[in-house]
Amino acid sequence: AAPVAFIGGVSRAARAGILMKGSAALEALAQIRTAIFDKTGTLTLGGAELIEIDVAPDRQADEVLRLLASLEQASHHVLADSIVRIARRRKLTLSQPCDVREHRGEGLKGLVNGMSVAAGSRPLVLGGGPLPGWAESAEKRHRSAQVLRVFVALDGRLAGIFTFGDAIREDAIETVGALRAVGVTRIVMLTGDDSAAAEKVSASLKFDAVFADATPAGKVETVKVEKATAPTMMVGDGINDAPALAAATVGVALGARGGTASSEAADVVVLTDSLQPVAEALRIAMRTRGIAL
Ligand code: ADP
Ligand code: MG
Repeated sequence: AAPVAFIGGVSRAARAGILMKGSAALEALAQIRTAIFDKTGTLTLGGAELIEIDVAPDRQADEVLRLLASLEQASHHVLADSIVRIARRRKLTLSQPCDVREHRGEGLKGLVNGMSVAAGSRPLVLGGGPLPGWAESAEKRHRSAQVLRVFVALDGRLAGIFTFGDAIREDAIETVGALRAVGVTRIVMLTGDDSAAAEKVSASLKFDAVFADATPAGKVETVKVEKATAPTMMVGDGINDAPALAAATVGVALGARGGTASSEAADVVVLTDSLQPVAEALRIAMRTRGIAL
């Protein structure tokens, strides 16, 4: 291959807002046959809009939100940013959390004003336990919609369920189509979210496979399995995706929020907060290989 052509491709990509870490990334991109996408914050916008708060009968919505947002100050998840912003907009005074343990891709636990606060997915917060009556009806609502849920427990008891709208990105369908057009034969979703939420998104995008309830370690395993069959690209946004990005033939980090773990682990960084450049990166890589060979 002619290195000069690849250097040209790297600079062409840069003008399109795509940072390639060297010409090796561009060469590898041209071989990609399988594309794996994270869901939350990658295929979707990551839950910026709060639709509903359901709280236990003895709790106040603003108080639960205040404790949740206080805890989320310690997280770098897309949802955490949204939650803190929403609480500030409601003029709630946040407290400093302590003893925080983040379970990447699942949620986090810590102390706020001496109270233990757990926030995140239902398994993390409740284990396998049943839902109390008030939560049962909250769970049933929005079943058909694209939503993200954050369960909040205070001192070990479920206190609130926060439902966020999690719309699919406008350019998702176009991006999937463009990837198929450049020869990507298998498109897969890999998410830490539950299968109901995952199926809704993958069905409308016509994915070839869906892997739900994945931990960061599980994401790495799936990437390795796919990579054994074909050169595989992993596209993700969050810190929880960093190990999976590193394990892929090519890791693509979306919407770089400067110096994040995911952009460090990635071979390709999309600087804008959109999906379409992912397909553009492959187009540039393939065109460049055409010139180089
Ligand atoms: P994906 O793998 O699709 O990007 P995530 O792993 O980011 O999904 O999130 C999966 C679920 O974990 C979310 O729907 C949410 O319930 C929970 N979660 C993860 N991180 C947090 C957090 N910082 N605060 C609250 N909930 C979280
Ligand atoms: Mg994500």
